[in-house]
Amino acid sequence: MRWGMVINLAKCMRCHGCVAACRIEHFLPLHITWVKLIAYEVDEKGAVDVSTYPVRCNQCSDAPCVHACPTEASHQRDDGIVLIDADKCIGCRYCQNACPYGARYFVPSTTKGYFPGKGLSPYEKVAYQKHTVGTVGKCTFCTDRLSKGEQPACVQTCPANALTFGDLDDANSAVSKLIASRNAQPLKPDAGTKPNVYYIS
Ligand code: SF4
Ligand code: SF4
Repeated sequence: MRWGMVINLAKCMRCHGCVAACRIEHFLPLHITWVKLIAYEVDEKGAVDVSTYPVRCNQCSDAPCVHACPTEASHQRDDGIVLIDADKCIGCRYCQNACPYGARYFVPSTTKGYFPGKGLSPYEKVAYQKHTVGTVGKCTFCTDRLSKGEQPACVQTCPANALTFGDLDDANSAVSKLIASRNAQPLKPDAGTKPNVYYIS
C-alpha cells in the first residue's frame, strides 16, 4: 500500500476548491495553505501566458524533510504518508529548507487574525487550537478521512474531478492506470525525492 495522487491539469479549472476544502478540513490559520496554486509562465511563439498548477506535499518516498529532521518528528508511515509529530517538533524548520516544493508551513504566533482589530472569530479560535505554535505542518493526505474509508477532502470536493487518489502499489487502481497510460510526471523529478503525486495534461 502506497497512497498517491494524480492531478489532471486539463480538467483542473483553477477554481481553488481544493484550497478551500483543505482550509476548512484542517482549520488552517491565516497565511497557512497546505494546498496552493502556483503561477508559471509559458512562452510559446513569443507570447507569455500565465497559468497555474496545484501543489501540495508530494509524500515523497525519499523525503529530504524526513532526512533533515533532527528529532524524528518528521516521519513516514508504511503507507508512504509523511507526517509530523508536533510533540517532537522543536520548530527548527530544517525540514522547510530541505523540501524542494515549499510544501511545509511554520505555525507562527496566533496574535493576528483574519480581521485586524476584531479579535479572533469562532473559526479562528478553533483553528489556532488545532495547530501548535512554533511547529511545522503540511498536507497529510487527510489521514483521518482515510482511516474512515473516505477520500481526502480536496479529492472529494474538486468539482472537475481533476484529482484521482488511490494505491500506487495496486496496478489495477485508478491512479496506477492513469500513470501508466497518460505519461504522468511528478514535480522536479531531478530532485530525487520520488514524489507520490503525479501530473497529467
Ligand atoms: Fe517532504 Fe516536501 Fe516531499 Fe512533502 S513534498 S514529503 S514536505 S520533501
Ligand atoms: Fe523536524 Fe520540526 Fe525541525 Fe521540521 S521544524 S526539522 S519537523 S523538528
